[in-house]
Amino acid sequence: MERVFNFSAGPSMLPEKVLARAAEEMLCYEDSGTSVMEMSHRSPVYEKIIADAEALLRKVMEIPDNYKVLFLQGGASTQFAAVPLNLLNKNGKADYILSGQFSTKAYQEAQKYGDIAVAASSKDANFSFVPKTDKNSFRNDADYVHICFNNTIYGTKFPYIPDTGAIPLVADLSSCILSEPIDVSKFGLIYAGAQKNMSAAGLTVVIVREDLLGNARKDTPAMLDYKLMADNGSMYNTPPCWCIYIAKLVYEWILELGGLKAMQKRNAEKAQILYDYLDSQDYYLAPVEKESRSMMNVTFVTGNAELDKKFASEAAAEGLINLKGHRSVGGMRASIYNAMPKAGVEKLVAFMKKFAKNNPKA
Ligand SMILES: *Cc1c(COP(=O)(O)O)cnc(C)c1O
Repeated sequence: MERVFNFSAGPSMLPEKVLARAAEEMLCYEDSGTSVMEMSHRSPVYEKIIADAEALLRKVMEIPDNYKVLFLQGGASTQFAAVPLNLLNKNGKADYILSGQFSTKAYQEAQKYGDIAVAASSKDANFSFVPKTDKNSFRNDADYVHICFNNTIYGTKFPYIPDTGAIPLVADLSSCILSEPIDVSKFGLIYAGAQKNMSAAGLTVVIVREDLLGNARKDTPAMLDYKLMADNGSMYNTPPCWCIYIAKLVYEWILELGGLKAMQKRNAEKAQILYDYLDSQDYYLAPVEKESRSMMNVTFVTGNAELDKKFASEAAAEGLINLKGHRSVGGMRASIYNAMPKAGVEKLVAFMKKFAKNNPKA
């Protein structure tokens, strides 16, 4: 069977070049005589893979020297607990901006550990936009402010980086990391599950400013202690070896294409094709406020649940799969991460036109 265009929100498409390279090296990586999956994480050959992966990510994202890069497990969801365990260490207070389901989950998890407040929320508008904030939105004595930068389920993205003054800003970048340049120095900590835009499921990347390390709560599990992980080069225990190797190939692919500026240009072009079409007609409705639109996850509905269902199944039959919206919001969602080619988006728009013509609303 031929490969299809996969619009899944995650795990999602990986660049074909990366998959082909991994296939080539599957049985025997360089002159190791083994697959990457089979080698000791303490072997020199694997130590080079993880060191290269870190160096490449630092280069791609221009990560300043005073930040540590950690390759962890447990998904972004584990960070919902790790962040408060490590950073809720001065006044026991943190402020969260609620802009969707993942930021709400992060907020609920953090409540187990301290005095957690909602600084702003768009819940009453079904998270159809990202709330505005300014310095006064946050408590002066908060230990950190948490945001989810791109809201995978609703298809929104922060059109700005919140100004939190001296308070460290923590951001979940799971569904937009590596999609465009981002000024890491504006953040105290960034985390991202890798299965959206970076690698296979099983790896979570944390980028954390060094001065925030070393003050974890006493009862922090070793596996969630950033300082311990940093001191051990992400090898306190067996790291997700294979996923780190795939991430390395993805970083190389991004650099080959011209880095994050080039990635941004490609992604903006793809998103514009879709949004331009959505704005040009009235069969489909794009529920998200324009200013908050995501470049990675594009949501739309027909306004009729039966038609939405028909859309997703007919699209799948034409090789456009996983377009059904998240179970909590319905409608459709096209996740168009880095690896989705422009041709996939063009084919989707052509299908949308055809479907609208063939299925007039009563
Ligand atoms: C997918 C996703 C998560 C959850 O990630 P897991 O790796 O499944 O824990 C959290 N935050 C965002 C923004 C996501 O897109």
